[in-house]
Amino acid sequence: MSKLTKIIASIGPNSQDYKILKSMLEHGVDACRLNFSHDTGEVQGKKIDMIRKISAELDRPIAIIADLQGPKHRIGDFKTENHYPLKVGQEFILDNNPERGDETRVCLPDSNVLKSLKVGDRVLLNDGKIELEVLNNSCTVDSTFCSVTTKVKRGDEIWSRRGFNIPDTEIESSILTPKDRADLEYVLTKNPDWVAISFVQRPEDVAEARDFITAHSSAPVKIISKIERPQALEKLEEIIQISDAIMFARGDLAVEVPFEKLPALQRRCIRLCRKMNKPVIVATQMLSSMVHSEFPLRAEISDVALASYLRADCVMTSEETTIGDNPVNVIDTMMKILVSADEDVSENGYDWSRTEHLPENDWSRSVASLAYLNKAQAIVAFDTGTEIATPISGRKPDVTIIVVCNDAIDANQLCLSRGVYPVFDAQLFGQRDAFGAAKRLGINRGKLVVVDENKISLREISE
Ligand code: PGA
Ligand code: MN
Repeated sequence: MSKLTKIIASIGPNSQDYKILKSMLEHGVDACRLNFSHDTGEVQGKKIDMIRKISAELDRPIAIIADLQGPKHRIGDFKTENHYPLKVGQEFILDNNPERGDETRVCLPDSNVLKSLKVGDRVLLNDGKIELEVLNNSCTVDSTFCSVTTKVKRGDEIWSRRGFNIPDTEIESSILTPKDRADLEYVLTKNPDWVAISFVQRPEDVAEARDFITAHSSAPVKIISKIERPQALEKLEEIIQISDAIMFARGDLAVEVPFEKLPALQRRCIRLCRKMNKPVIVATQMLSSMVHSEFPLRAEISDVALASYLRADCVMTSEETTIGDNPVNVIDTMMKILVSADEDVSENGYDWSRTEHLPENDWSRSVASLAYLNKAQAIVAFDTGTEIATPISGRKPDVTIIVVCNDAIDANQLCLSRGVYPVFDAQLFGQRDAFGAAKRLGINRGKLVVVDENKISLREISE
């Protein structure tokens, strides 16, 4: 059972057991995401070794994504582990005094953030449940003690080390925190296929991350920019252009922009990525109720299917597979929804209007239309890089695209492209064995559109 939309699974405490992880990969996971907000260094290294081992056992490429924490902000500790109420109208101080906080103040350890806050800016604590507005900022560029007075606009309880968001504030410091640099230096020794950069604000952030990666690794590591700040939405096209893939990171984004804007932004982001032919991932809370439940919510079923209908390249799991009760069941559930969406699309025909932004008559359109008109089981392409696979996948032809590669990294990286099933096999590649490649993926009969250098042919598999 395969599906066109790829599944990225976040791997954490409840999915890093060898058997569970292998089962998740067997049940349909195409890529594993390692979240450096939680584990760092060697723990992640062990997961990478395990994923590579399972990938070899299954004889199937699997992409590894190292997701850096980025400038994720957290407040400091309070005097006790109690919850402290913040009431509407009261003043509350954020400063860089490392002493423990109370209902009048708390430490905000990153002085750069304190210095960036302007009068009127919002500070959202605890997933946006609390909203503060900056009344006065006494920090200067070179002051050592910094204090920002705010007024509580929306109240709730707060406790130690909660995250906060500052949607109105452009952060001037480097996109890579000292922790990100240390994590990157370590993880690059383990050759991840992709690195995801959190809280990207501008194209220069991506360029900076790329320079750091190139200086520390000779491997062609690709970059995913996470769209989770309003500043990134303003420069979305330039950010997509300079990135290798995009993650529409709804968790932080829904705190930083009015939540009702999320569906429209998701459509816009997917549309732009399709236009520029970069893989796009829809992330966060896709099946969150399944952390403890055996079945998804109705709204979650529709959300996963919608991502597929919009032709996103990937959907991603978060805590449902890191700390959830049954990560394998989450993957099975996602598979069922994605396969069913594919069946619906194939029964109802191909919508050519979706590709109107692509060149009318280029060769990838011929490949897609040949596959569609002949009801082909698959497209099989031989590729020495990703120059053949990428334009075909970019057409979103709603058919499996088997890409026979002669490079392991290309094969792993292609795992993020919609519909693409890479096969890394020197023999199949050398012999240009399209039928052998199709049979490897369980396709034993039907028509194939074969793309080899600049030849496109229609062939029929016989047993
Ligand atoms: P995170 O990113 O899980 O690393 O915060 C995803 C998101 O914000 O949606
Ligand atoms: Mn995030």
